[in-house]
Amino acid sequence: MRSVTDMLAGIDPPMPKGCNSLGRLLADLSSHQCRFPLRGEGAATRFCAAEVEVEVWQPGKSGACYCGFHRTIARASRAELEAA
Ligand SMILES: [Zn+2]
Repeated sequence: MRSVTDMLAGIDPPMPKGCNSLGRLLADLSSHQCRFPLRGEGAATRFCAAEVEVEVWQPGKSGACYCGFHRTIARASRAELEAA
């Protein structure tokens, strides 16, 4: 059962301009495509899939598998957590 917060997050996830609003399944992602989860759960999770610059792509490093837009969001939420 999804909470109201989950539903709201699913209806209006943070999205970069021009991003495919449906997102892509992990299995459909090429390398260097943003792994930011937009909606769904488990194997049905859909990811942003925007192209990520080769120079920032560092699998395993926090936030380095996200496009510029989602890197900014990830950094901001980390800063919030650290400030709390
Ligand atoms: Zn992204």
